[in-house]
Amino acid sequence: MKILVVGGAGYIGAHMVKWLARAGHEVIVLDNLSTGHRDAARYGSLVEGDLADEWLLDSLFKDNQFDAVMHFAAFSLVGESMVDPGKYYRNNVAATLNLLDAMVRHGVRHFVFSSTAATFGSPQSERITEAHPQQPINPYGQSKLMVERLLEDYDRAHGLKSTCLRYFNAAGADPEGELGESHNPETHLIPLVLQVASGRRDRISVFGDDYDTPDGSCIRDYIHVQDLCDAHLKALDWMRLSERSGRFNLGNGKGFSVFEVIDSVRRVTEHSIPYEVTDRRRGDPARLVADAAFAQEVLGWQTKYSDVDTMVAHAWWWEKNSIVI
Ligand code: UDP
Repeated sequence: MKILVVGGAGYIGAHMVKWLARAGHEVIVLDNLSTGHRDAARYGSLVEGDLADEWLLDSLFKDNQFDAVMHFAAFSLVGESMVDPGKYYRNNVAATLNLLDAMVRHGVRHFVFSSTAATFGSPQSERITEAHPQQPINPYGQSKLMVERLLEDYDRAHGLKSTCLRYFNAAGADPEGELGESHNPETHLIPLVLQVASGRRDRISVFGDDYDTPDGSCIRDYIHVQDLCDAHLKALDWMRLSERSGRFNLGNGKGFSVFEVIDSVRRVTEHSIPYEVTDRRRGDPARLVADAAFAQEVLGWQTKYSDVDTMVAHAWWWEKNSIVI
């Protein structure tokens, strides 16, 4: 296939580009490099540009007969979305509309969309299935849910098939050590704890130890980025074969607490990890764990790296060996 990967220079997108290239597909990356890294997209051909540029989109679609589009380009910081919602609606919703309209104009009908567990809002059950109500509690989750909803209309009106993949906590790095997570500023737990292990940071703040969980810290479902890539390609194959749209929750099905992640980093890196317990972070639910049975059943997908020590080990290799990409 020839696939357009929008946001293919970012953390998950870059792993996807490599995954697709390894599977023998041709990949064009469209990325404005606002948060991505030029080198990270090297398994595809990079077009530097923005979804706001309709002329660029038209020429890209005219020059290439794409079989499908995967869309990873979005802002994804919950806190930032609370203080600057317009930035999130413009980029995550309005820019996505430009992309979808270009697809419709040029007859490309298969779309894989990076959605998020944040579309569910506060969890009402231990494990979250696709049937869980979607009531986002921040503009980031809201922006992703808006796209999920408008994709239903684009299917009805234009026959544009989509799969929305709701990620829980993406983690880990390319096992071959070529790619990894590199955000600036970094806000995610595993890379931050690894920065403590490598000496780039003095200590990690644990955002609250008084939650209703066994050790008092928040529990999240960390899923290896390679397992996410595997699910994306399986979702694309499923969509093209079935000619149906679908919505899938992608998680490990296992929860790990903040303290368990810190312990894992201690085990894997053999470094001490000083921490301090601070206030809870606004908007953090105590527990967020996926039920991914539907994706397993329909897509024939299984996680391969469900062990947190493996995710941490791959991310640690990246932290030690790459400062900037
Ligand atoms: N967390 C923490 N300290 C940090 C960063 C994160 O205790 O410096 C906690 C956070 O409260 C959450 C978990 O780690 O329970 C994962 O947070 P992250 O920002 O990595 O992902 P999110 O769950 O927000 O998508």
